[in-house]
Amino acid sequence: MHCPDCYSQRLVKNGFNALDKQMYLCKECGRQFVLDPAKTAISDEKKKLRLLLGFEDMLPQVVQSTRDGSRQAQNTASLVM
Ligand SMILES: [Zn+2]
Repeated sequence: MHCPDCYSQRLVKNGFNALDKQMYLCKECGRQFVLDPAKTAISDEKKKLRLLLGFEDMLPQVVQSTRDGSRQAQNTASLVM
């Protein structure tokens, strides 16, 4: 058992996280982490969240370009008329 960051084995138990998993604190670098298979699930969850957030970040651009596109279409339409 060692710190995933600095590989130190100077770890202390540091309570439980939101999912009731034992948390450890590295006394060497101060990193908190969970030594548990569920750790992967958590990071998967974070990845999903990041994907969702990333997707939402893209939305304004899509909306913006659509809006510009329709505005251009309107301008073209008014020019034609
Ligand atoms: Zn460490």
